[in-house]
This record gives sequence, structure tokens and C-alpha cells, in this order.
Amino acid sequence: MEKKLLEYKISKCPICGEEHIYSLVLLDKTKNNNVLLFGVSPAAQTEVLFLCKKDNSPFTKKVTVPPESDILGIATDSEIEEIKRIKDLKSVNNEFSNWVQSSRRVAFDFCKNMLTTSVASIPIYYAMIKFIENHSVEKYLLIIPPILLLLLLAICIFTIGIYPTLKLIHESSFQEFRNNRLRRLSFLSNFGTIIYLTSIVYSVILFTYMLIL
Ligand SMILES: [Zn+2]
Repeated sequence: MEKKLLEYKISKCPICGEEHIYSLVLLDKTKNNNVLLFGVSPAAQTEVLFLCKKDNSPFTKKVTVPPESDILGIATDSEIEEIKRIKDLKSVNNEFSNWVQSSRRVAFDFCKNMLTTSVASIPIYYAMIKFIENHSVEKYLLIIPPILLLLLLAICIFTIGIYPTLKLIHESSFQEFRNNRLRRLSFLSNFGTIIYLTSIVYSVILFTYMLIL
């Protein structure tokens, strides 16, 4: 069962009359709960032995026990350290598993957004061609095929990246399958982005050159 820390304040110590703050060790029993019940149970109380922080004299006080837990007593320094260390370790593990779970989503969403951007570039590209004066076949051949082909290639790459594949996978080979999928997704998103950026750079240079001429 998991141990937790509970900060408990005694506003008026029966020994010295001052305010003391203690760390109590709680035993969390939620994970061991087997039966689910509706109803409100009366708040349980337990007598805890405290030591006055001023002169170390012992005194007892009734403390309300939080639901699904037991109060073990005042936490020692080593217990506080140990509980905090376990808590930190758990939060690191949680963060790591969140990263693992979301990493594919990040690349997948990127490909999806890039696909939308690439598709949306085509009408903009056609609109820009209209602005070019002194149309000649050479100019059209210089602009339309390369840029359009690059844009279409980028669209194909991003579509392949997010296209779902059906495959029968055994649990033992899942890790390998997952790694392969992630590598493929990474390669396609990089490759698609390079192609898309090349088409943008090429069109910017070309349109600027034609406007100057
Ligand atoms: Zn005291």
C-alpha cells in the first residue's frame, strides 16, 4: 500500500501553547478496496501521539482520518525523504509514459496539418500565376510543372504517412511494429516537409524573378 504525507497543524499546543505543524504518514488504502458502496461513512478519528516541537514532551490528540486511509503516526525525516523520492519517481514515470503515448500523435498531427497546408497551397499557387504578365509558354512550363509536381508529391507523402494500415500483430512483436511505424512516420514527415519547403522556396524565387523582369 502507498504511503502519503499529510500536513497537520495544531494551532495551540497543549504543552507550550504555540502553533506547530507536523507531517503525518498516511497509508492509502484506495488501491486495496475491493467493494464499491454508496453511502456516507462517518469520519473516523484516531488518537495520534505528538511531541511538542519546543520541549519534546508527548501529548495525544484526536485526528480525523481521511477516507480510505490510516494514520501511521508522525513522519520521521527519513520517511519524509523516502515518500517524496517515490512521489518524484512516479511523476517522472508518468511524464515518460505520457511522452511515449503522445509522441506518435505529435508526428501524426503534423503530417495531417501539412497535408491540409499542401492541398491549400494549390489554389493559391494558381491564383498567383494569374498575376504574371506577358504570358508565354516557356514561363508557364517553368512555373507550373515543377512547383505543382513538388506540391502533389508532398501531398502524396503526407497522405501515405497518415494512411491507416491494417495488420495482425502479436503482443510480442508490438514493440518492433511500433518502432517501425514511428520511424516510417518520422521519415515521411521529414521528407514531405523538405519537398513542401522546396516548392515554396522555388515558387518564391521564381515569382520574384518574374515580377522584377
Ligand atoms: Zn509545543
